[in-house]
Amino acid sequence: QPPTDETEIHQLDEDTVARIAAGEVVERPASAVKELVENSLDAGASSIDVTVEAGGTDLVRVADDGHGMTEADLRAAVRQHTTSKISGLDDLESGVATLGFRGEALHTIGSVSRLTIQSRPQDGDGAGTELVYEGGTVESVSPTGCPAGTTVEVADLFYNTPARRKFLKTTATEFAHVNRVVTRYALANPEVAVSLTHDGREVFSTTGQGDLQAAVLAVYGREVASAMIPVDADGEELPPGPLESVAGLVSHPETNRASREYLATYVNDRAVTSDALREGIMGAYGTQLGGDRYPFVVLFHEVPGDAVDVNVHPRKREVRFDDDDAVRRQVDSAVESALLEHGLLRSRAPRG
Ligand code: ADP
Ligand code: MG
Repeated sequence: QPPTDETEIHQLDEDTVARIAAGEVVERPASAVKELVENSLDAGASSIDVTVEAGGTDLVRVADDGHGMTEADLRAAVRQHTTSKISGLDDLESGVATLGFRGEALHTIGSVSRLTIQSRPQDGDGAGTELVYEGGTVESVSPTGCPAGTTVEVADLFYNTPARRKFLKTTATEFAHVNRVVTRYALANPEVAVSLTHDGREVFSTTGQGDLQAAVLAVYGREVASAMIPVDADGEELPPGPLESVAGLVSHPETNRASREYLATYVNDRAVTSDALREGIMGAYGTQLGGDRYPFVVLFHEVPGDAVDVNVHPRKREVRFDDDDAVRRQVDSAVESALLEHGLLRSRAPRG
């Protein structure tokens, strides 16, 4: 409604609201990639191909062989707050098994880009459907020949929000963010064949054979893969604390980088960052690493469902635990045991 004589407070039009909201979910190409890859995983894909051009600013394409969508599904999927994943708050309280549940990603991405979705259900006969959505409006829906599964293309992200488009960094920086996102999901889902292609060049592709070591080899290369040792601690092996298990791979101390980027940490299979987890890892390596050097780490942590809240902001990956000190001790102990077992730590005085 327009302002009246009585008040200047008025309701914003839908388009303005949608574009403002979009900025909170989609900050840069990598955030679109994250949402689309999560959708593919939620759709049970066994193969996910991510293609980006110009760091994702010109094009992001995610193709999967998941369960696919019918024409009716497609029309519903781009509407606001539409999801097939939860029905209400009860589902949230009892814990969500899917990565998504807000039902806002496709709608918001589509309100700040030119979005094309092709999809065909795995179980249906019939052809596929192509839906074109631009700046928040359905432009066309038509039958199309396509493989079973879903391909989503996001072109010209932020074309209709120039101020935000200006804030995008160089192609190299935007691609680094995309690479990090795809890497995190590829490592967490070694049973899914994940590939990443940038400007026509394949950056990596995992086999989907289900082996974490093989996924690390595909993503980081032979030098790093051959320097990884297993961590596997649960139950009695861990000091008391909220973590039920700590498992994955960590590198020899000599195989390190001057960036935290290679600390891939997960809680209940969600990629997260956490000071407690990082400090636990770094504590285990002690003085073995030079200042500001970080190991390669792919570590999965299990906590009881009610000890973490997944109902956080979609962009926030930082998690906090009730008892950070206990978490730090648990991770330190799990990683230290693995390093000691492989003779990779100089002896150090026992800590109190
Ligand atoms: P959410 O993931 O939170 O449900 P989205 O906006 O990301 O919300 O997606 C809306 C709906 O569209 C999903 O709930 C799902 O039913 C469907 N969908 C989206 N992407 C895919 C995909 N790649 N394969 C199959 N269905 C999909
Ligand atoms: Mg989603």
